[in-house]
Amino acid sequence: MNDTYQTISNYLYQHNVTLVAVSKTKPAQTILELYNTGQKDFGENRVQELKEKYEILPKDIRWHLIGHLQKNKVKYIAPWIYLIHSVDSTELLMEINKQAEKSNRIIPCLLQIYIAKEETKFGLDETELFKLLDDNTNENLGNIRIDGLMGMATNTENEETVRNEFRYLKSLFDITKSKYFPNADHFKHLSMGMSSDYKIGMEEGSTMVRIGSLLFGERN
Ligand SMILES: *Cc1c(COP(=O)(O)O)cnc(C)c1O
Repeated sequence: MNDTYQTISNYLYQHNVTLVAVSKTKPAQTILELYNTGQKDFGENRVQELKEKYEILPKDIRWHLIGHLQKNKVKYIAPWIYLIHSVDSTELLMEINKQAEKSNRIIPCLLQIYIAKEETKFGLDETELFKLLDDNTNENLGNIRIDGLMGMATNTENEETVRNEFRYLKSLFDITKSKYFPNADHFKHLSMGMSSDYKIGMEEGSTMVRIGSLLFGERN
């Protein structure tokens, strides 16, 4: 695991891309081993599992929630979550804001965009994205900060399909930045790419990749 990790993390570092090590289903001990080699960003897709790991692992780990988030679970992660990649509705954004306020902090969020041709994936389409941003410009959401966009490409061997989906997401990112966040340095993250397609993601402008099986081996 360490050789692969070093190779990937050096490569990403050279390209200024953040590595989120996706540790879902893996035991705390495995996370700790990677943490001890210097990895600080870890991603999980389930709140319950994330919370259990948070409680027993070092407190300077930067935890990323990458999976679908239900409103009633926001309260469990609000005091310490580092970045939520999967915001896909105004209602969820408002709940995150409310819980962040209770914890007296500002929670960084990414808006998840639906780019794949797969029913099982979540996210906003282009129209919903702009509607959400239009609706929220005047609202009092002082305890969240929108730091960028996230998307998952279709799970396919066809590189052109993946590349076109990523390219489309990058174009939405650029439009969103110039229209809604022209002077906001914090709007800078494009979370795009996993084990099978992170190189394509990087070629198309990703700033953050979420890699699991390539680092930890296949999940059951
Ligand atoms: C599981 C997961 C990943 C990582 O997938 P790998 O193929 O193991 O790299 C990335 N993003 C999300 C949202 C995931 O749920």
